[in-house]
Amino acid sequence: MNEQVYEITRVENEARIRMLEAGIRVIIMRAGTFVDLQKHIEAILGDDASALFYGAGIRAGRESAKVLLEEWKERGVEFLKKLGEFYQSAGVGWFKIEDININFEKENGHIRVKQSFIAEEYGKSNQPVCHFLCGFFSGVLQEAFGEKLTCEEVKCTAKGDQYCEFKFRRY
Ligand SMILES: [Zn+2]
Repeated sequence: MNEQVYEITRVENEARIRMLEAGIRVIIMRAGTFVDLQKHIEAILGDDASALFYGAGIRAGRESAKVLLEEWKERGVEFLKKLGEFYQSAGVGWFKIEDININFEKENGHIRVKQSFIAEEYGKSNQPVCHFLCGFFSGVLQEAFGEKLTCEEVKCTAKGDQYCEFKFRRY
């Protein structure tokens, strides 16, 4: 069954489009524009840039999860599955989830994604580049499960891996 998981509304005579019943203002941005921004910030800040994008990702993930938890009424793993659909081509086109393994009993877990919009636009790199997504997943999981987590991207397609893998640890 194909289910529509998002809804965009144009607002006549305004420079706005809105998404979901909550009326969140969204923009459609070329993926390369985001990565250009990241590269310019990296050129200025060096390694500190990853912390900046990670932090921004956490805030984005928390805000996104708050809205979607309210909108969908799904919880737990069902919520994560729906979130996966929402962020792949059925929704906003950020990435495709390959595997989610969240086992907080064992204090860790991972999310694997393909076609990260950051990794694909970035080009080759010696280290992972999806700092924003790393923070984003961490923020979503914190909000959805009430766990305090850190995230590390241990594999990234930008450095030649088959997928981007994000590992989580409770703290
Ligand atoms: Zn990556």
